[in-house]
Amino acid sequence: MFDFDFDHEQPGTLAEAVTLLERSAPGGRIIAGGTDLLPNMRVDVLRPTTLISLSRIEPESPRRDAAGAIRIDALTRLAAIAESPFIGEELPLLAESARAVGGNQIRHMGTLGGNLCQDTRCLYLNQRHDYQFVAPCHKRGGTICYPFPQNKPDTCWSVYMSDVAPALIALDAEVETVGGKGARRLSVEALFTGSGLTPLGIDRDEIISAVVVPPQPGGARFGYHKSARRGGLEFAMAVIAARLRIAEDGKSCMNARIAMGAVRERPLRMPAAERMLSGAVLNEASIGAAVAAALDELKPLPHHGYIKSDIVDNVRVYLRRVLERAAGGKNGQVGSA
Ligand SMILES: Cc1cc2nc3c(=O)[nH]c(=O)nc-3n(C[C@H](O)[C@H](O)[C@H](O)COP(=O)(O)OP(=O)(O)OC[C@H]3O[C@@H](n4cnc5c(N)ncnc54)[C@H](O)[C@@H]3O)c2cc1C
Ligand code: SF4
Repeated sequence: MFDFDFDHEQPGTLAEAVTLLERSAPGGRIIAGGTDLLPNMRVDVLRPTTLISLSRIEPESPRRDAAGAIRIDALTRLAAIAESPFIGEELPLLAESARAVGGNQIRHMGTLGGNLCQDTRCLYLNQRHDYQFVAPCHKRGGTICYPFPQNKPDTCWSVYMSDVAPALIALDAEVETVGGKGARRLSVEALFTGSGLTPLGIDRDEIISAVVVPPQPGGARFGYHKSARRGGLEFAMAVIAARLRIAEDGKSCMNARIAMGAVRERPLRMPAAERMLSGAVLNEASIGAAVAAALDELKPLPHHGYIKSDIVDNVRVYLRRVLERAAGGKNGQVGSA
Protein backbone atom coordinates (compact mmCIF):
# COMPACT_ATOMS: atom_id res chain seq x y z
CA MET A 1 0.00 0.00 0.00
CA PHE A 2 2.91 2.37 0.82
CA ASP A 3 6.27 2.49 -0.87
CA PHE A 4 8.01 3.61 2.33
CA ASP A 5 8.46 2.16 5.81
CA PHE A 6 7.37 3.66 9.11
CA ASP A 7 7.21 2.63 12.75
CA HIS A 8 3.89 2.13 14.51
CA GLU A 9 3.29 2.91 18.19
CA GLN A 10 0.17 2.38 20.26
CA PRO A 11 0.40 4.38 23.49
CA GLY A 12 -2.13 3.79 26.25
CA THR A 13 -2.47 7.46 27.27
CA LEU A 14 -2.27 10.90 25.65
CA ALA A 15 0.73 11.72 27.87
CA GLU A 16 2.61 8.73 26.40
CA ALA A 17 1.52 9.82 22.92
CA VAL A 18 3.03 13.29 23.52
CA THR A 19 6.31 11.70 24.68
CA LEU A 20 6.37 9.52 21.58
CA LEU A 21 5.66 12.55 19.37
CA GLU A 22 8.58 14.41 20.93
CA ARG A 23 10.85 11.39 20.60
CA SER A 24 9.94 10.77 16.95
CA ALA A 25 10.13 14.44 15.82
CA PRO A 26 10.09 15.68 13.15
CA GLY A 27 8.62 12.66 11.34
CA GLY A 28 6.19 11.37 13.99
CA ARG A 29 2.48 11.77 13.38
CA ILE A 30 -0.71 11.08 15.33
CA ILE A 31 -3.21 8.76 13.72
CA ALA A 32 -6.76 8.67 15.11
CA GLY A 33 -9.33 7.20 12.68
CA GLY A 34 -6.82 7.48 9.83
CA THR A 35 -9.48 8.48 7.28
CA ASP A 36 -7.65 11.68 6.35
CA LEU A 37 -4.07 10.70 7.17
CA LEU A 38 -3.91 7.37 5.33
CA PRO A 39 -5.25 8.72 2.00
CA ASN A 40 -2.69 11.55 2.29
CA MET A 41 0.07 8.99 2.84
CA ARG A 42 -1.17 6.98 -0.09
CA VAL A 43 -0.86 9.95 -2.47
CA ASP A 44 2.52 10.80 -0.95
CA VAL A 45 1.56 14.15 0.55
CA LEU A 46 2.81 12.80 3.90
CA ARG A 47 5.65 10.39 4.65
CA PRO A 48 5.65 9.97 8.41
CA THR A 49 8.50 8.00 9.95
CA THR A 50 6.38 6.96 12.96
CA LEU A 51 2.61 6.66 13.27
CA ILE A 52 1.42 7.13 16.85
CA SER A 53 -1.99 5.54 17.00
CA LEU A 54 -4.59 6.72 19.52
CA SER A 55 -6.68 3.58 18.95
CA ARG A 56 -5.90 2.02 22.35
CA ILE A 57 -7.20 5.08 24.22
CA GLU A 58 -10.89 4.81 25.05
CA PRO A 59 -12.71 8.17 24.72
CA GLU A 60 -14.74 9.44 27.68
CA SER A 61 -18.47 9.89 27.07
CA PRO A 62 -19.65 13.45 26.40
CA ARG A 63 -20.72 15.15 29.64
CA ARG A 64 -21.67 18.48 31.15
CA ASP A 65 -18.98 19.91 33.43
CA ALA A 66 -19.39 21.89 36.66
CA ALA A 67 -19.48 25.19 34.69
CA GLY A 68 -22.33 23.92 32.49
CA ALA A 69 -20.11 23.46 29.41
CA ILE A 70 -20.32 20.25 27.39
CA ARG A 71 -17.04 18.35 27.09
CA ILE A 72 -16.53 15.95 24.23
CA ASP A 73 -13.44 13.78 24.08
CA ALA A 74 -11.51 14.50 20.86
CA LEU A 75 -11.28 10.74 20.21
CA THR A 76 -15.07 10.43 20.00
CA ARG A 77 -16.11 8.96 16.67
CA LEU A 78 -18.29 11.21 14.52
CA ALA A 79 -20.97 8.51 14.38
CA ALA A 80 -21.16 8.53 18.19
CA ILE A 81 -21.70 12.31 18.10
CA ALA A 82 -24.26 12.11 15.32
CA GLU A 83 -26.22 9.38 17.11
CA SER A 84 -25.85 10.53 20.73
CA PRO A 85 -29.26 11.44 22.25
CA PHE A 86 -27.39 13.74 24.71
CA ILE A 87 -25.61 15.69 21.92
CA GLY A 88 -28.77 15.63 19.79
CA GLU A 89 -30.71 17.24 22.63
CA GLU A 90 -28.07 19.67 23.91
CA LEU A 91 -26.09 20.54 20.76
CA PRO A 92 -28.27 19.73 17.75
CA LEU A 93 -26.09 21.91 15.52
CA LEU A 94 -23.03 19.77 16.28
CA ALA A 95 -24.98 16.52 15.77
CA GLU A 96 -26.21 17.80 12.41
CA SER A 97 -22.68 18.72 11.29
CA ALA A 98 -21.29 15.30 12.32
CA ARG A 99 -24.08 13.60 10.33
CA ALA A 100 -23.01 15.64 7.28
CA VAL A 101 -19.50 14.13 7.18
CA GLY A 102 -18.79 11.56 4.46
CA GLY A 103 -20.65 8.25 4.62
CA ASN A 104 -21.41 5.85 7.42
CA GLN A 105 -18.02 4.11 7.35
CA ILE A 106 -16.14 7.41 7.50
CA ARG A 107 -18.25 8.57 10.45
CA HIS A 108 -17.63 5.29 12.28
CA MET A 109 -13.85 5.59 11.82
CA GLY A 110 -13.32 9.37 11.84
CA THR A 111 -12.90 11.19 15.14
CA LEU A 112 -13.82 14.70 16.25
CA GLY A 113 -10.15 15.70 16.75
CA GLY A 114 -9.14 14.22 13.40
CA ASN A 115 -11.96 16.08 11.69
CA LEU A 116 -10.72 19.41 13.05
CA CYS A 117 -7.07 18.58 12.22
CA GLN A 118 -7.71 17.30 8.68
CA ASP A 119 -5.44 18.77 6.05
CA THR A 120 -6.59 21.25 3.42
CA ARG A 121 -7.45 19.84 0.00
CA CYS A 122 -7.00 20.68 -3.68
CA LEU A 123 -7.59 18.58 -6.77
CA TYR A 124 -3.88 18.46 -7.54
CA LEU A 125 -2.76 17.70 -4.00
CA ASN A 126 -5.11 14.78 -3.40
CA GLN A 127 -3.74 12.58 -6.12
CA ARG A 128 -0.36 10.99 -6.63
CA HIS A 129 2.11 13.53 -7.92
CA ASP A 130 3.85 11.04 -10.22
CA TYR A 131 0.54 10.27 -11.92
CA GLN A 132 0.69 13.14 -14.40
CA PHE A 133 2.71 16.03 -12.97
CA VAL A 134 6.30 17.08 -13.52
CA ALA A 135 7.28 19.39 -10.67
CA PRO A 136 5.89 19.20 -7.13
CA CYS A 137 3.67 22.09 -5.99
CA HIS A 138 4.42 24.60 -3.21
CA LYS A 139 2.71 22.47 -0.58
CA ARG A 140 4.88 19.50 -1.55
CA GLY A 141 7.95 21.71 -1.25
CA GLY A 142 8.17 22.56 -4.95
CA THR A 143 8.00 25.67 -7.07
CA ILE A 144 4.68 25.59 -8.86
CA CYS A 145 0.95 25.86 -8.11
CA TYR A 146 -1.11 24.05 -10.73
CA PRO A 147 -4.59 25.58 -10.20
CA PHE A 148 -3.20 29.07 -9.38
CA PRO A 149 0.05 29.48 -11.40
CA GLN A 150 0.40 33.12 -10.29
CA ASN A 151 0.80 32.09 -6.63
CA LYS A 152 4.18 32.75 -5.03
CA PRO A 153 5.89 29.87 -3.12
CA ASP A 154 4.53 31.17 0.20
CA THR A 155 0.92 30.92 -1.01
CA CYS A 156 -1.20 27.81 -1.32
CA TRP A 157 -4.94 28.08 -1.92
CA SER A 158 -5.92 24.59 -0.83
CA VAL A 159 -9.28 24.59 0.96
CA TYR A 160 -10.21 23.48 4.49
CA MET A 161 -13.18 21.13 4.22
CA SER A 162 -14.31 20.16 7.72
CA ASP A 163 -18.11 20.06 8.07
CA VAL A 164 -17.84 20.17 11.86
CA ALA A 165 -15.52 23.14 12.43
CA PRO A 166 -18.04 25.80 11.24
CA ALA A 167 -20.68 24.38 13.62
CA LEU A 168 -18.22 24.47 16.55
CA ILE A 169 -17.25 28.05 15.68
CA ALA A 170 -20.92 29.11 15.56
CA LEU A 171 -21.27 27.50 19.01
CA ASP A 172 -18.23 29.46 20.26
CA ALA A 173 -16.47 26.22 21.20
CA GLU A 174 -12.92 25.74 22.44
CA VAL A 175 -10.41 22.90 22.25
CA GLU A 176 -8.16 21.62 25.00
CA THR A 177 -4.74 20.38 24.02
CA VAL A 178 -1.85 18.54 25.64
CA GLY A 179 1.70 18.82 24.35
CA GLY A 180 5.36 19.24 25.08
CA LYS A 181 4.70 22.72 26.51
CA GLY A 182 1.84 21.47 28.73
CA ALA A 183 -1.92 21.83 28.44
CA ARG A 184 -3.80 24.80 27.04
CA ARG A 185 -7.23 25.85 25.86
CA LEU A 186 -7.92 27.88 22.71
CA SER A 187 -10.98 28.72 20.66
CA VAL A 188 -11.74 26.49 17.68
CA GLU A 189 -11.53 29.65 15.60
CA ALA A 190 -7.92 30.19 16.73
CA LEU A 191 -6.88 26.68 15.65
CA PHE A 192 -6.43 27.77 12.06
CA THR A 193 -3.66 29.85 10.54
CA GLY A 194 -5.33 30.79 7.24
CA SER A 195 -2.35 29.36 5.32
CA GLY A 196 -2.95 26.46 2.97
CA LEU A 197 0.67 25.40 3.45
CA THR A 198 0.37 24.93 7.22
CA PRO A 199 -3.32 25.22 8.04
CA LEU A 200 -3.18 24.19 11.72
CA GLY A 201 -1.88 26.56 14.37
CA ILE A 202 -0.90 23.92 16.93
CA ASP A 203 2.58 22.52 17.59
CA ARG A 204 3.76 19.25 16.05
CA ASP A 205 3.80 17.63 19.50
CA GLU A 206 0.38 19.00 20.52
CA ILE A 207 -2.72 16.78 20.62
CA ILE A 208 -6.32 17.95 20.91
CA SER A 209 -7.74 16.14 23.93
CA ALA A 210 -11.27 17.60 24.11
CA VAL A 211 -13.74 20.01 22.60
CA VAL A 212 -15.55 22.20 25.12
CA VAL A 213 -18.81 23.86 24.12
CA PRO A 214 -19.89 26.60 26.54
CA PRO A 215 -23.50 26.82 27.76
CA GLN A 216 -25.50 28.33 24.92
CA PRO A 217 -27.10 31.72 25.67
CA GLY A 218 -30.85 31.96 26.25
CA GLY A 219 -32.81 32.35 23.03
CA ALA A 220 -30.10 30.67 20.91
CA ARG A 221 -31.38 29.12 17.69
CA PHE A 222 -29.38 27.40 15.03
CA GLY A 223 -29.19 26.72 11.31
CA TYR A 224 -26.85 24.53 9.25
CA HIS A 225 -26.40 23.54 5.64
CA LYS A 226 -23.79 21.59 3.73
CA SER A 227 -23.93 21.69 -0.05
CA ALA A 228 -22.31 18.79 -1.87
CA ARG A 229 -22.56 17.56 -5.40
CA ARG A 230 -24.67 14.46 -4.75
CA GLY A 231 -26.18 15.86 -1.59
CA GLY A 232 -23.89 13.81 0.63
CA LEU A 233 -21.20 11.12 0.90
CA GLU A 234 -18.52 13.60 -0.10
CA PHE A 235 -16.70 16.80 0.66
CA ALA A 236 -18.58 20.09 0.61
CA MET A 237 -19.02 22.80 -1.95
CA ALA A 238 -19.81 25.15 0.95
CA VAL A 239 -20.86 24.75 4.60
CA ILE A 240 -22.88 27.32 6.56
CA ALA A 241 -23.51 27.27 10.32
CA ALA A 242 -25.31 30.00 12.24
CA ARG A 243 -26.40 30.78 15.77
CA LEU A 244 -28.89 33.59 16.28
CA ARG A 245 -29.76 34.77 19.76
CA ILE A 246 -33.40 35.81 19.65
CA ALA A 247 -34.77 38.38 22.12
CA GLU A 248 -37.77 37.69 24.34
CA ASP A 249 -40.05 39.48 21.86
CA GLY A 250 -39.35 36.51 19.55
CA LYS A 251 -38.60 38.86 16.65
CA SER A 252 -35.30 40.62 17.14
CA CYS A 253 -31.82 39.24 17.09
CA MET A 254 -29.55 40.15 20.00
CA ASN A 255 -26.46 38.57 18.55
CA ALA A 256 -25.39 36.45 15.58
CA ARG A 257 -22.49 34.08 14.88
CA ILE A 258 -22.12 32.86 11.32
CA ALA A 259 -19.32 30.53 10.18
CA MET A 260 -18.60 29.13 6.74
CA GLY A 261 -16.51 26.18 5.63
CA ALA A 262 -15.08 24.86 2.36
CA VAL A 263 -14.67 28.37 0.98
CA ARG A 264 -11.06 29.25 1.97
CA GLU A 265 -7.94 27.83 3.61
CA ARG A 266 -9.70 28.07 6.99
CA PRO A 267 -13.28 28.30 8.26
CA LEU A 268 -14.47 31.90 8.13
CA ARG A 269 -16.66 34.09 10.32
CA MET A 270 -18.86 36.60 8.53
CA PRO A 271 -18.46 39.67 10.79
CA ALA A 272 -20.26 42.21 8.58
CA ALA A 273 -23.31 39.95 8.27
CA GLU A 274 -23.22 39.25 12.01
CA ARG A 275 -23.18 43.01 12.74
CA MET A 276 -26.12 43.59 10.37
CA LEU A 277 -28.23 41.09 12.28
CA SER A 278 -27.25 42.03 15.81
CA GLY A 279 -29.99 44.31 17.15
CA ALA A 280 -32.12 43.95 14.00
CA VAL A 281 -35.72 42.81 13.78
CA LEU A 282 -35.53 39.57 11.83
CA ASN A 283 -37.49 39.86 8.62
CA GLU A 284 -36.98 39.48 4.89
CA ALA A 285 -35.23 42.86 4.62
CA SER A 286 -32.75 42.40 7.50
CA ILE A 287 -31.92 38.83 6.48
CA GLY A 288 -31.52 39.97 2.85
CA ALA A 289 -29.18 42.77 3.99
CA ALA A 290 -27.11 40.28 6.04
CA VAL A 291 -26.81 37.93 3.07
CA ALA A 292 -25.70 40.85 0.87
CA ALA A 293 -23.10 41.84 3.49
CA ALA A 294 -21.82 38.24 3.66
CA LEU A 295 -21.51 38.05 -0.12
CA ASP A 296 -19.58 41.30 -0.05
CA GLU A 297 -17.04 39.98 2.43
CA LEU A 298 -16.85 36.44 1.08
CA LYS A 299 -13.95 35.85 -1.29
CA PRO A 300 -14.31 32.13 -2.01
CA LEU A 301 -11.60 30.09 -3.65
CA PRO A 302 -12.64 28.02 -6.64
CA HIS A 303 -12.18 24.37 -5.69
CA HIS A 304 -13.00 20.83 -6.82
CA GLY A 305 -14.54 22.00 -10.06
CA TYR A 306 -16.69 24.72 -8.47
CA ILE A 307 -16.02 28.15 -9.93
CA LYS A 308 -16.26 31.22 -7.70
CA SER A 309 -19.66 32.28 -9.00
CA ASP A 310 -21.11 28.79 -8.28
CA ILE A 311 -20.07 29.15 -4.66
CA VAL A 312 -21.32 32.74 -4.38
CA ASP A 313 -24.69 31.75 -5.88
CA ASN A 314 -24.90 28.79 -3.53
CA VAL A 315 -24.20 30.96 -0.47
CA ARG A 316 -26.73 33.56 -1.67
CA VAL A 317 -29.49 30.92 -1.57
CA TYR A 318 -28.47 28.80 1.42
CA LEU A 319 -27.30 31.51 3.81
CA ARG A 320 -30.75 33.08 3.50
CA ARG A 321 -32.41 29.72 4.19
CA VAL A 322 -30.12 28.95 7.12
CA LEU A 323 -30.88 32.34 8.68
CA GLU A 324 -34.61 32.04 8.02
CA ARG A 325 -34.64 28.58 9.62
CA ALA A 326 -32.69 29.81 12.63
CA ALA A 327 -34.96 32.84 12.98
CA GLY A 328 -38.13 30.79 12.76
CA GLY A 329 -37.06 27.50 14.34
CA LYS A 330 -38.16 26.31 17.72
CA ASN A 331 -35.87 27.44 20.54
CA GLY A 332 -32.69 25.39 20.55
CA GLN A 333 -33.67 23.36 17.54
CA VAL A 334 -31.43 23.17 14.53
CA GLY A 335 -32.97 24.24 11.27
CA SER A 336 -31.44 22.36 8.39
CA ALA A 337 -31.92 24.47 5.29
C1 LIG B 1 -14.15 9.15 1.27
C2 LIG B 1 -13.95 10.23 2.29
C3 LIG B 1 -14.93 11.17 2.49
C4 LIG B 1 -14.77 12.17 3.44
N1 LIG B 1 -15.77 13.08 3.58
C5 LIG B 1 -15.62 14.07 4.50
C6 LIG B 1 -16.67 15.04 4.66
O1 LIG B 1 -17.70 15.00 3.98
N2 LIG B 1 -16.49 16.02 5.58
C7 LIG B 1 -15.37 16.10 6.36
O2 LIG B 1 -15.28 17.00 7.20
N3 LIG B 1 -14.36 15.21 6.22
C8 LIG B 1 -14.47 14.19 5.32
N4 LIG B 1 -13.45 13.28 5.17
C9 LIG B 1 -12.18 13.49 5.88
C10 LIG B 1 -12.03 12.66 7.17
O3 LIG B 1 -12.52 11.39 6.99
C11 LIG B 1 -12.76 13.26 8.35
O4 LIG B 1 -12.45 14.62 8.46
C12 LIG B 1 -12.44 12.56 9.67
O5 LIG B 1 -13.20 13.13 10.71
C13 LIG B 1 -10.97 12.63 10.04
O6 LIG B 1 -10.83 12.06 11.32
P1 LIG B 1 -9.78 10.90 11.62
O7 LIG B 1 -9.91 10.56 13.05
O8 LIG B 1 -9.94 9.78 10.65
O9 LIG B 1 -8.42 11.69 11.33
P2 LIG B 1 -6.98 11.08 11.00
O10 LIG B 1 -6.93 10.72 9.56
O11 LIG B 1 -6.58 10.07 11.99
O12 LIG B 1 -6.10 12.38 11.26
C14 LIG B 1 -6.23 13.53 10.44
C15 LIG B 1 -5.12 14.53 10.84
O13 LIG B 1 -5.36 15.02 12.15
C16 LIG B 1 -4.28 14.68 13.04
N5 LIG B 1 -4.96 14.32 14.29
C17 LIG B 1 -5.88 13.35 14.47
N6 LIG B 1 -6.37 13.41 15.72
C18 LIG B 1 -5.74 14.42 16.33
C19 LIG B 1 -5.82 15.00 17.63
N7 LIG B 1 -6.67 14.54 18.55
N8 LIG B 1 -5.02 16.05 17.92
C20 LIG B 1 -4.17 16.55 16.99
N9 LIG B 1 -4.05 16.06 15.74
C21 LIG B 1 -4.84 15.01 15.42
C22 LIG B 1 -3.52 13.57 12.35
O14 LIG B 1 -2.15 13.58 12.71
C23 LIG B 1 -3.74 13.90 10.89
O15 LIG B 1 -2.81 14.87 10.50
C24 LIG B 1 -13.59 12.23 4.22
C25 LIG B 1 -12.58 11.27 4.04
C26 LIG B 1 -12.76 10.29 3.08
C27 LIG B 1 -11.67 9.28 2.90
S1 SF4 C 1 -3.32 25.17 -4.20
FE1 SF4 C 1 -1.71 24.50 -2.78
S2 SF4 C 1 -1.91 22.27 -2.74
FE2 SF4 C 1 -2.95 22.98 -4.60
S3 SF4 C 1 -1.38 22.93 -6.22
FE3 SF4 C 1 -1.38 25.01 -5.36
S4 SF4 C 1 0.25 24.94 -3.80
FE4 SF4 C 1 -0.32 22.81 -4.25
